Amino acid sequence: MAQIVAVTGGIGSGKSEVCHAFAALGVPIVDLDLIAHALSEPGSIAMQHIRSRFGDEVFDAAGRLNRAALRAWVFSEPTALEDLNAIMHPAIREAALQHIAQADNAPYLILAIPLLVESRADWPMIDHVIVVDCTEDLQIARLVTHRQLSPDMANMMMQAQSSREARLAIADTVIENQAGLSELIENVHNFHKNYLKTCLTIKTIS
Ligand code: ATP
Repeated sequence: MAQIVAVTGGIGSGKSEVCHAFAALGVPIVDLDLIAHALSEPGSIAMQHIRSRFGDEVFDAAGRLNRAALRAWVFSEPTALEDLNAIMHPAIREAALQHIAQADNAPYLILAIPLLVESRADWPMIDHVIVVDCTEDLQIARLVTHRQLSPDMANMMMQAQSSREARLAIADTVIENQAGLSELIENVHNFHKNYLKTCLTIKTIS
């Protein structure tokens, strides 16, 4: 069984760049955001449940999820978010576990979970947690520069997430992303080198 290494971090911290660097090293990536998107394809079982709970109005004429309509519902009705999570979270988890099982031959895999602090209890199988970290000012600057968000919007999205301290508290390894991309890639390479040794030790003693 491959070791499961979670990658988490705040919005704009550099999780995707870190995952790209791991992928370039041949490490399998299981990305919860990508899984959630795939589960939102028209006709999926999850979408059938969404339709029975929220109705036709959260879908467009082609049967695609209207995220803006769903978001509006979630903000206006207190139980809507709970219901949405109750539909999506188990489906995402089950699909992720299937992807994890397929990566069995690798020494370790990366499980990209943006909101791990909020859902740690759902993922007892994680062996190691990497938190990608930078200052909040830099998070905002990246979102403004690369995502064309206003500083206010970037700040609001950041404040809606768990705090930097709460993320750092669940870290086994912190990958700093305070400098350029080449430094970030070097940090990933260092982790990879060391963690492969850990995997070998675990394999030897188990
Ligand atoms: P989100 O939570 O919004 O998905 P993320 O944590 O995955 O964000 P990235 O998408 O990796 O963050 O990074 C945000 C933006 O900042 C991207 O455009 C990325 O290329 C850029 N970026 C990340 N790290 C660096 C860096 N060290 N130097 C320069 N640009 C960077």
